[in-house]
Amino acid sequence: MTKRAGKQRAQTRAEKRAEKRAEKRSEARPGKKAGKEPRKAAAKPPGHRKGRSPSRRSCDACGAPCAPGEAVRLVYVEGSGWLPDDRSRLQGDALEVHCTAACIARAGEHRRGESLPPVDPETLQQTLSAWIDEQILQALSRVAAAGQVVGGHDVLREALKQGQISHVLVANDAAERTRRSLARSAPAAVEFHDLPLDRAALGARVGQPPRAAVGVAASPATVPLRSRLTIRTALRGENVLANRQR
Ligand SMILES: [Zn+2]
Repeated sequence: MTKRAGKQRAQTRAEKRAEKRAEKRSEARPGKKAGKEPRKAAAKPPGHRKGRSPSRRSCDACGAPCAPGEAVRLVYVEGSGWLPDDRSRLQGDALEVHCTAACIARAGEHRRGESLPPVDPETLQQTLSAWIDEQILQALSRVAAAGQVVGGHDVLREALKQGQISHVLVANDAAERTRRSLARSAPAAVEFHDLPLDRAALGARVGQPPRAAVGVAASPATVPLRSRLTIRTALRGENVLANRQR
């Protein structure tokens, strides 16, 4: 064996070791290697990329930055159209838009133009309204199970007066005098929201007898429910403080 051949073999071994190390690295971090799943990577909005702060996402309708919880990711699913995908589970063409009536209305004129399937703002508004209502009801069940919901007119009025309640959720068949009576007991910052449930369904949802209204505790445990209520308000373009006066 010549000196030169030995050197070459040593180089080859070193190269092989380097290759193995590279393989191990890419196995440990799947998807990290560029070009491994290009379609999936391209479909994710910028905010979902590793190492980027969420504030760098921007709305595809208005172009302004999206703070966490302000925007919804939409994914185009063949046969179903644009669907909300808040947990980034769906794959396909994606848009990121503010959950506001104004940005949903403009989602059809998104900046990427012809490269994406068309968006029908009316259908999208209906899809998102149904989606957020369902999210709210599921969150309500969870906070009720955690003992964070107050029901019963007198108990609720007392809790309102003591500042324990942040939101009042009103059944769609509640009497106006019930709403007014609760509004009189509520500090100015308490929000009133209408639910797509009647008294019987509202009571059943929180594990109580029929309720015209329930109060949501002003506690960290109810933040997920409250943020969904905020999203719904923005989607509808509503003024929540007007809700208590009707
Ligand atoms: Zn926007």
